[in-house]
Amino acid sequence: MDLNLTPQETAFRDELRGWLAANVPKDWIKIRNSEGGMEARFEYLKQWQKKLYDGGWAGVHWPKAYGGRGASTMEVVIFNEEMARAEAPPMANVLGLGLIGPTIIAYGNDAQKQRYLSKILSAEEIWCQGFSEPNAGSDLANLRTEAKLDGDHYVINGQKVWNSYGWAAHWCELVVRTDPNAPPHKGLTVILVDMKTPGVEVRPLRQMTGETEFNELFFRDVRVPVENVVGGVNEGWKVAIGTLMHERGTFGAGLTITYKRNFNRLVELAHQLGKAKDPIVRQKLGQIYADIEIMRLTQMRQFSKISQSGVPGPEGSVQKLIWSELNQRVQQFAMELLGPYAQLTNHSPDAVDDGMWNYGFLRSRGNTIEAGTSEIQRNIIGSMVLGLPKSY
Ligand SMILES: Cc1cc2nc3c(=O)[nH]c(=O)nc-3n(C[C@H](O)[C@H](O)[C@H](O)COP(=O)(O)OP(=O)(O)OC[C@H]3O[C@@H](n4cnc5c(N)ncnc54)[C@H](O)[C@@H]3O)c2cc1C
Repeated sequence: MDLNLTPQETAFRDELRGWLAANVPKDWIKIRNSEGGMEARFEYLKQWQKKLYDGGWAGVHWPKAYGGRGASTMEVVIFNEEMARAEAPPMANVLGLGLIGPTIIAYGNDAQKQRYLSKILSAEEIWCQGFSEPNAGSDLANLRTEAKLDGDHYVINGQKVWNSYGWAAHWCELVVRTDPNAPPHKGLTVILVDMKTPGVEVRPLRQMTGETEFNELFFRDVRVPVENVVGGVNEGWKVAIGTLMHERGTFGAGLTITYKRNFNRLVELAHQLGKAKDPIVRQKLGQIYADIEIMRLTQMRQFSKISQSGVPGPEGSVQKLIWSELNQRVQQFAMELLGPYAQLTNHSPDAVDDGMWNYGFLRSRGNTIEAGTSEIQRNIIGSMVLGLPKSY
């Protein structure tokens, strides 16, 4: 593929760069590290997304007909790179923009597109993804949350877990079992659930970072209108896989710049700490530099493929595997470089970079689990990309 920008892509980049220079808030890093709490930070990110939306920059990858910019794959790459370069805050409605909106665009009917899409872009309605259950994570097709038809409603009972943003979400893309007698993959349905419906309970789970990003969701006789089914009754597997491919294929976008920024900071710290001549430090930094470059080029290849097919494919698993495992190696190296100081959180005046490395190390442990574990990604690459026999 040709990595040089066309005149149209250059114009897109320059317009965006100008807009970001004028609009990126300068206090994000301070807010991110402040004691204000998760809710206050999230409110800030919602306001930021609204600003992007008003400027026409939310959901650039969405078709113009649904409020996006119809950006080409290369323009999406440029968007993510420029956001990272400008140190712009992330958008609040991460799952809505990246996974659930595209799923509704691909599988939803006109009424659903009309009802949900613009509010995802403007962050007026936040979305979460209710897939995993206590006994169905990697083996998602084994899920047990059931939905029984009662007139023009489904009645939902069951439990989900590891639900990101559940505490902030207005809506949930939920996968339920509608036919208990069908083979596991065939009896599933995707249904959109208003989180305010009686019987929905959200219980926070505290993580080792101290945050409660994730939740358990309980459903007790939750009545959801039939019209909220997306993609057809008992057709949920293909809809859910579509969502997961977006999650694996596109979430790494923009990480190259972030990783490069972290890398440059680690080089600076190595100098400051008098460790830049240490041969082991040098070897590890050299390896990280090469790995980031491999990630960037693999990502370009993946985006090139998406631009031909229109949708992310199983190759997204390669990308997911690379960014998650590389981040863990970078964060691990930061711990080794900083020594005992790495353990100080942002509550300590002696914390390096406001405790960013401490937080990054702890949070990175989840990277190889979220959006499918590394073992599952390797299985997918083996069977669906390389054509090897299935392992189960
Ligand atoms: C940060 C984070 C955010 C998340 N956000 C969400 C969310 O918003 N919504 C949601 O629905 N879920 C979410 N999840 C859940 C996530 O998708 C699951 O944790 C993940 O799919 C693994 O499932 P599990 O935890 O049940 O582990 P299990 O499936 O029980 O796996 C346990 C171990 O066995 C291995 N294993 C399992 N099957 C195989 C196999 N066939 N071959 C080889 N090894 C195997 C796994 O790799 C793993 O090491 C999130 C998880 C994390 C960590």
